[in-house]
Amino acid sequence: MDTHPYRVVITDCDHGSIEEEKAEFGQMGAELILAQVQGEKDLIRVCKDADGLLNQYALLTRKVLESLPKCKVIARYGVGVDSVDLKAATDLGIVVANVPDYCMDEVAGQTIAMILTLTRKTAFFDRKVKSGEWDFHLGIPIYRIKGKTLGLIGCGKIGLEVARRISAFGVKVMTFDPYLEKAPEGIELKDFDTVLKESDFISIHCPLNDSTRHLIGEKEFRKMEKKPLLINTSRGPIVEEKSLIQALGEGLLSGAGLDVLEKEPPDSQSPLLKMENVVLSPHVGFYSVESISELKRRTAKNVSEVFMGRRPGSVVNREVLGKTRASISG
Ligand code: NAD
Repeated sequence: MDTHPYRVVITDCDHGSIEEEKAEFGQMGAELILAQVQGEKDLIRVCKDADGLLNQYALLTRKVLESLPKCKVIARYGVGVDSVDLKAATDLGIVVANVPDYCMDEVAGQTIAMILTLTRKTAFFDRKVKSGEWDFHLGIPIYRIKGKTLGLIGCGKIGLEVARRISAFGVKVMTFDPYLEKAPEGIELKDFDTVLKESDFISIHCPLNDSTRHLIGEKEFRKMEKKPLLINTSRGPIVEEKSLIQALGEGLLSGAGLDVLEKEPPDSQSPLLKMENVVLSPHVGFYSVESISELKRRTAKNVSEVFMGRRPGSVVNREVLGKTRASISG
């Protein structure tokens, strides 16, 4: 006889361990199964008796969801929920929850690291010293950070964290964010062209969608009067990469710090790989030991909250509230 009150299936997960999830479900006596499956047939086979799912990449289509009569909640590891058919989940009364803010500190830190690396030329000098060249003249000119202006394209959770941190360096912060009604404290709200024109550093923190794809291209680079550093830790396609390469080549920018690219990983022939004033990282902004641990714990909690009759911290398909399979309050 099954003594567990709930069955939870992790459809797939590449984190290496599921200790945090085990701890969360162990407390409530739920059975936790790590499946690592893709494809409708296998997903239906392993998930059909599940009360809740934890999901990373496996596609939870309408067909899959319609085959899970007991499933009350799906929690996605991370922010995006592209892997889940949200409309189908809502129709079936299944709550879909995510964790939208587990790595703000990490992405903000990555952004600041890139600004500092590029302004102080640390990555450049590291390469020079290790190849036997001990000469600070190789990096001239280097400009003072204090007194410069950072322009944020998008000032939500991460943009705000970046602003807080860079202010400690004596940098003035302005932002273009069409959805902000008033300027956050200490930040000037400006129009797009003013941010392009007046910034010494430009950092992108808006989401990728139809209106932000290629938001920064040749026309925008030509409006950047201060030859700024461009930092992108958001999503690659927000910047038109061909124009970026051209702008760097023409000296319209002083440099670029890119954690994300239009094509990840880049082609081995990409000119970006050869440019001394470009610092790259492999889409690592979200990662730290702590952020992943927090992500796992909070993803599991999103499921256990529903089992306990409570609304999870972040429900994506809010239209489901009031007609959920599980009886939840709050
Ligand atoms: P958020 O939703 O809190 O903030 C996004 C902000 O962008 C909002 O204030 C919104 O009003 C603004 N915005 C929307 N459209 C805009 C536009 N056209 N122009 C200017 N601003 C616009 O999101 P967040 O948590 O701050 O995350 C920002 C982005 O960071 C995410 O969308 C994601 O792409 C990226 N991200 C990257 C990593 C990484 O590993 N590098 C990790 C997490 C998030």
